[in-house]
Amino acid sequence: MDDGFGWAGKILHVDLTSGAMETLPTHAYAETFIGGRGIAAKLYWDMVGAAPDAYAPENPLILMTGPLAGTPAPACSRLVMLGTSPLLYPDQCGIANMGGIAAARLKAAGFDGVVIRGRAHSPVLLHIRSGSAELRDARDLWGLDIPTILEHMTARYGKKAAALCIGPAAEQLLRLSLVAGGNGSFAGHGFGAVWGAKLLKAMVIEGNEKPAVARPDELAGINRQIRTMIKGRNLIDPVLPDIELVRRTPCHGCPGGCSRGLFRHGSGLQDYRKNCGSSYFYYDWDKRYHHDEPSGSSFLATSLCNRLGLCTQELTKMLPWLHRCAEEGIITERSSGLRLGELGSPGFFKDFIRRLMDRQGLFDLLAQGVMRAAHGLGPAAELLLEGIVEGAGFSADVYSPRFFITTALLHATDSNPMAQLHEISLPAFEWVLWYATDGGMSSVSTETFRALAKKFWLDEEAADFSKHEGKGFVAAHIQNRQYAKETLVACDSFYPILFAEAAGDHIGDPSIESRLFAAVTGLDMTEQQYYRVGERLFNLQRLIRAREGCPGRAFDTLPEFNFTEPLEIDTMVRFGMFNPEFMLPGPGGELITRKGAVLERDTFEAMLDEYYHARQWDILTGMPTPAGLRALDLAQLIEHPLAADCLPLRQPLDPAITVMSASAGLRALDLAQRAEPALNDEPVPLRRSDTTTAGSMPPSARPLALNLQELLGRRLTDKDLPMRASLEKTINQDQGGIHDETGD
Ligand code: SF4
Repeated sequence: MDDGFGWAGKILHVDLTSGAMETLPTHAYAETFIGGRGIAAKLYWDMVGAAPDAYAPENPLILMTGPLAGTPAPACSRLVMLGTSPLLYPDQCGIANMGGIAAARLKAAGFDGVVIRGRAHSPVLLHIRSGSAELRDARDLWGLDIPTILEHMTARYGKKAAALCIGPAAEQLLRLSLVAGGNGSFAGHGFGAVWGAKLLKAMVIEGNEKPAVARPDELAGINRQIRTMIKGRNLIDPVLPDIELVRRTPCHGCPGGCSRGLFRHGSGLQDYRKNCGSSYFYYDWDKRYHHDEPSGSSFLATSLCNRLGLCTQELTKMLPWLHRCAEEGIITERSSGLRLGELGSPGFFKDFIRRLMDRQGLFDLLAQGVMRAAHGLGPAAELLLEGIVEGAGFSADVYSPRFFITTALLHATDSNPMAQLHEISLPAFEWVLWYATDGGMSSVSTETFRALAKKFWLDEEAADFSKHEGKGFVAAHIQNRQYAKETLVACDSFYPILFAEAAGDHIGDPSIESRLFAAVTGLDMTEQQYYRVGERLFNLQRLIRAREGCPGRAFDTLPEFNFTEPLEIDTMVRFGMFNPEFMLPGPGGELITRKGAVLERDTFEAMLDEYYHARQWDILTGMPTPAGLRALDLAQLIEHPLAADCLPLRQPLDPAITVMSASAGLRALDLAQRAEPALNDEPVPLRRSDTTTAGSMPPSARPLALNLQELLGRRLTDKDLPMRASLEKTINQDQGGIHDETGD
C-alpha cells in the first residue's frame, strides 16, 4: 500500500484528559480492514473490553474516513463515528454514519481518522489543521444551540472549514442526542452524549491537500458510467404540504442521490431535511390532531430537534410508545405533566422538549431513550414497545420477515441491519410501484426483479418470496456487500446502484464499488475480494457483539409476533398502502400474496442453519470458528489478549429462554383488556424484549443508568443557567406562522 493514494497514512489519537496527541499508522489496520467501519471496529476491538461504559473517559470515540474520501469518487466522502453508544441498551458498540464535508476535510488535513479518549477539564474545541491539531477553550460555545455554534465557527474559521459540534441536548447528556455538522449533516446513536461527557463541544477541520488518485482516467470512466446509471433517478422530495426547496445541500463529491436540502415552510421557518422517515416523525400526530389538515407542526418539530441536537428517529419511537402508555394508564397527564391530548400540536412538542431538557421526574427517564425509559417504568411499559422498537420487534411491513423472508435473517443476526434491509426493500418497492401502476411509475417488472436478484444476490430464485431455501446464502451475501461498503464509507442512499434507467435491462452494476477502490488506490480488487473484506468485518463485529453479551445463536432470534400474528395492514404499514394484498413475485415469477403469512418457527431455524453454513460458522452456537477466522486472515483476532472474553465462547448471560404465556403476562400486569383480542394460554417463548431488552442482556444484569447528576458526579450549577435562557430562545424563535393554538 502506497501512502500516496487512498490513505493519508495516519490516524490522530487525542487524550483529552492529558492533552497528549500522537498518531497511529493507518496501514497497520488498512491491509485487512480497508478503512471506515473496518478500521474503526478493529480499533474498538483492541481498545475496549467486555461491559463497556459509554460515559467512561476511556470510551474511544472513533471517527474514520475511507480511502475514497476527498477524491472524485461520488458519494464516498462520508465518515463513520464508532464507539460505545449510550443509546443502545445496555451500552454497547454502536456506529453512526455522517455526510457533509468533514470526511473530505479530514483527509485533506492529512488524517484518515481521529480517536478521542479521556475527558477534558472544561469544554474544549479540537482544531485539526494540515497535519497538526490543538485543543482550544470552548467555554464560550457551551450552551449555544447548533445553528448558532456553526455560524460562530464559520465566522472564525471560514466557509471552507468543516465544523462539527454538539448542542444543548448533548451537554445535558441526553442519550438521544446527536453530533451535528454543517448543511444538515448529523451523526446519531447517542454519540452527542459521548461528546458531552468528554466535554468536547466542537471540532473544526481545515486542510488543503487534494488526495491523489492512482488511475484518474479509470476513475473518470467509472464516474461517467455512474452518471449514466443515475440519470433520471427519482429524488424523493419531502411530501409535507406548504414547503419549498431553498437549495440542495449534497455531501462533498456527491452528484445528489437523495433529497437532502434546505427547505422553507410557508410560515417562513427554514431548516434542513433529508429523505428518510425521520423528517416526518411528527407528521402523523400533526394530521391526527388537526383533523387531517396538517398545521406545519411537523416542520417545527424537526427544526427544533435540529437546533438542539435531538435524534428524531428516537422520538419517532418514543411518542407512540408514550401514547400507548397513556392508553393503558401506565402514565397519566397528571403524573407525567404531559398534555397528551394535545399530541400533534406545536405547543405539545415545545412543552415536551422543554421538559426533556429539564430532565425532571419522568423526563429524566425519557432522556435516556425509549428502551431505558420502558425498563424504568416496568414490565407493562416494556410490553408496549412491541412493534415500535427494533429490539422488541420492528413490525413495519416495509422490512417485515413475514413479507420478504430473507429479512428474517438480517433482523436476527445484526443489531443494526438498516442498510441491508434497504437492499431488499428498495427493489421490492420499485416492483410494487410497477405492479400497482401497470408499469406507469417504475420499470422494475417481475422479469427485471428476477434478473436483478441474479445479478446482485447471485440467484434469481432469491426473488421468489414463497420459499426459504437459499435465503441463508442471500442474507450472508447482502451483509458482506453492505459491510464492505462501510469500509469505504460509501453512502447507503447511493450504493449499491441497483437500477439504471438508461440501461437496456434497467439493472445497475454491483462491481462499481470495488472498481472505484482500485482506481483510487491503484490496488486491484475483484468484486469477490471486496465482499471478502465485508465478510471479515462482519466476523469481527460478531466477536465484538459476543464480548458485549450477545453470543451467537441464543441471540439470533425474532420477536414472537413474527411467528404468531398473520401479516395484515396495521398502523405501521408502508408497503400495504400501495399493495394491500401484499403481492410479490413467487415461483418462476408467478405472483403470490403474503397477506396473512407468518414465519414458521422450524423454517426460521432451518434458515439460520443454512445461514451459519454459508458463513462457515459453528451451526450449534452460531459463532465463527478459529479455523474460519484463520481462513479469513483474521488469526490476529484469536491471538488478541481480549479474545478470551469471547473465544472460547462466553456463556450467554441468560441462556435459559423462559417460557410464559403472553396473554397471562398481560393479565398479571392488569392489562387484560389489551390481551383480550388474542387470548391464548398456550405457553410461548418469552419474547426477546421480555428477557433481553434490545436483544442483548437481561435488564437486571445492569443497573438502570443513573440520572444526570449521578452520571457525572456533578450537580447543575450556575454555569448551566445561561443555557436555560438560551434554550427558551431556541424553542421560541422563528416559529413564523406555526401557531400554538393550545395557548402555550
Ligand atoms: S446521496 Fe445524499 S446523503 Fe448520500 S452522499 Fe449524496 S447527498 Fe449525501
